[in-house]
Amino acid sequence: MFELTPETQFALEATRQAALLVAQIEKEMVWAALTKEDRSPVTVADYASQAVVAAALQRACPQDKLVAEEESGLLHHPQSSEALQLVTQYVRRVEPTADPARVCEWIESGNAPATGRFWTLDPLDGTKGFLRGDHYAIALALIEDGKVKLGVLGCPKLNPECCPQADGEGALLVAVRGKGSWVTSLKQPRTYRRLQVSPQTDIRQARLLRSFESGHTDAERIEAFAAFLNIQAAPLRLDSQAKYALLAAGQGELYLRLLSPGKTDYREKIWDQAAGSLILEEAGGRITDLGGKPLDFSQGRTLRNNCGVLASNGILHEQALAALRAVGAVPEG
Ligand code: AMP
Ligand code: MG
Repeated sequence: MFELTPETQFALEATRQAALLVAQIEKEMVWAALTKEDRSPVTVADYASQAVVAAALQRACPQDKLVAEEESGLLHHPQSSEALQLVTQYVRRVEPTADPARVCEWIESGNAPATGRFWTLDPLDGTKGFLRGDHYAIALALIEDGKVKLGVLGCPKLNPECCPQADGEGALLVAVRGKGSWVTSLKQPRTYRRLQVSPQTDIRQARLLRSFESGHTDAERIEAFAAFLNIQAAPLRLDSQAKYALLAAGQGELYLRLLSPGKTDYREKIWDQAAGSLILEEAGGRITDLGGKPLDFSQGRTLRNNCGVLASNGILHEQALAALRAVGAVPEG
């Protein structure tokens, strides 16, 4: 088993509480959403989840910095007062002393500089999936000097085997660098089971994963990649870092994040990759960008030095990189 240090315990408990709270919000069908500057949606659940994890971090590790996806700005607008009330009501289920001002402070504490030692949080990865009733995850990771040291994923729409299941127990995954990847039930954590990637060596049999949202990838080129390699099965479309959970548990072999044709200058956000990447690597998998470079978490809030992502069971990685070059999916430079 991995060692349950105070920081691992904090990360597991905070992620679990946030994931259970988001699942309650989903069940109670609170879909209130605002629109961010980049036109993407942000919901009551994104804000409540970030506030809950930030409050727990301040208690458990008051010296530590948080780099999280959301900011409180929109919540201060008069037209958002109903949303802020809703967020506060939900946060109170976990933090009984919460009021709107403290909720905004907790959310805003996620604005620390991404340098040295810090935690990075995606309070609701796959917001579009959440709004559709599909997959989403809560993702928390500890980064020290550009290296991911600890990663936790709370996935309410997976079961502890890391298979998609709508009203199941949920999966709580954790990886500690050098100590493996582990999974337990999200609703009723019991013993942890060690995760191991798929031993598949025949790329034609590979199960391919991709984003559900076509705007987050290049669906046509993924088809070209699959055709080039004679991959038989259609790709499985899934939101969020739940895709890394499937790979780590051997429920798939390849995951491509190709650059979307309309947004080739997009760079991945660290909170979208940190926890999932360590969970995959510690289960024996491999993750690089589309050109084969390791992901570089030392560049602030984005993976500025990387383009796209290729994640695999390790065995099929080089073959997949060669196929990406062959179908023109590797950006120049
Ligand atoms: P997925 O669940 O695989 O669709 O990925 C969700 C994440 O994709 C979100 O958290 C966004 O931060 C990120 N995202 C937004 N726009 C893009 C884009 N153009 N290309 C790749 N990822 C994006
Ligand atoms: Mg995200």
